[in-house]
Amino acid sequence: MEEAVGLLGLYGPEAKILAGGQSLMPLLNMRLARPSVIVDINRIGEMDYIRPSDGGIAIGALTRERRVEDDPIVAERLPLLAALVKWIGHPQIRNRGTVCGSIAHGDPAAELPAAALALDAELAVVGKSGTRTLSPDDLYLGYLATSLAPDEIIREVRFPGLPANAGWSIQEVARRHGDFALVGVIAVLGLTEGRISEARLVCFGVGGRPVRFPEIEGQLVGSTPSEDLFSATARQVSASVDPDGDIHASAAYRKEVAGVLTRRALEQASERAKGGIQS
Ligand SMILES: Cc1cc2nc3c(=O)[nH]c(=O)nc-3n(C[C@H](O)[C@H](O)[C@H](O)COP(=O)(O)OP(=O)(O)OC[C@H]3O[C@@H](n4cnc5c(N)ncnc54)[C@H](O)[C@@H]3O)c2cc1C
Repeated sequence: MEEAVGLLGLYGPEAKILAGGQSLMPLLNMRLARPSVIVDINRIGEMDYIRPSDGGIAIGALTRERRVEDDPIVAERLPLLAALVKWIGHPQIRNRGTVCGSIAHGDPAAELPAAALALDAELAVVGKSGTRTLSPDDLYLGYLATSLAPDEIIREVRFPGLPANAGWSIQEVARRHGDFALVGVIAVLGLTEGRISEARLVCFGVGGRPVRFPEIEGQLVGSTPSEDLFSATARQVSASVDPDGDIHASAAYRKEVAGVLTRRALEQASERAKGGIQS
């Protein structure tokens, strides 16, 4: 890791890290990135792990997305993550693509950056001036732009566990299974004595970075889950997002779908919190 950081420090913005290559290689093929140096971190063997960490899990820089699907620690502590990675591309892509690479790349339609935001993940970052901890909110600046310095590597991502009373849901619309999301939503709801005690809501595919809605989350807390509440929340989310249109979907379509998926995600998260859905 030290050697990799040293090389990145030496070459600066001229260099790019190669992890799974599932985003970098297409960028090179399309000449959208033209680094003069590639720093391949794949042989830093000790970085391929999933470990228990403070009730949650820690995932090293070279852990492939595929491993998260079947890992017993993930299944026990954060089944949300195991379900989420299955939305990423296809098995061949997940066999190579890394969790930290996806978070570092920061595609606004990607699942893992959105999960990092929804789960209040912590990123352990190492660079030539030492180590620091970064939140996903501070990491994402805009479309594929992050606050990582050219010499910095995400060494580990730590996902805290969810409270025992929490239910979750991932909803996504893509043109074909395995395509990037046109729009996606992650919801987490904690229920205490029939009322919402915790709410988290993240939309992805609706702009330059995944979006969280602290005000809307705050309004949900203290309320009783109901169809009316979730429909009203869906309308608020739809009105709040400011997506771009492209060849895949118009901005108006994305706004509409963000609302529909929010309602579905809240309903499913609530059902799960009540014990109506297993795992
Ligand atoms: C056909 C196809 C479909 C896909 N579909 C989806 C999808 O539906 N959803 C989805 O989320 N993703 C999708 N992906 C992308 C996939 O998840 C990538 O694996 C992921 O985005 C990047 O991870 P990687 O390890 O391959 O990174 P790389 O491609 O090796 O690197 C990507 C970028 O991140 C930087 N980087 C990598 N690791 C680190 C690190 N530890 N610290 C700092 N910087 C780092 C690199 O320098 C580079 O700039 C798809 C890819 C393909 C080819």
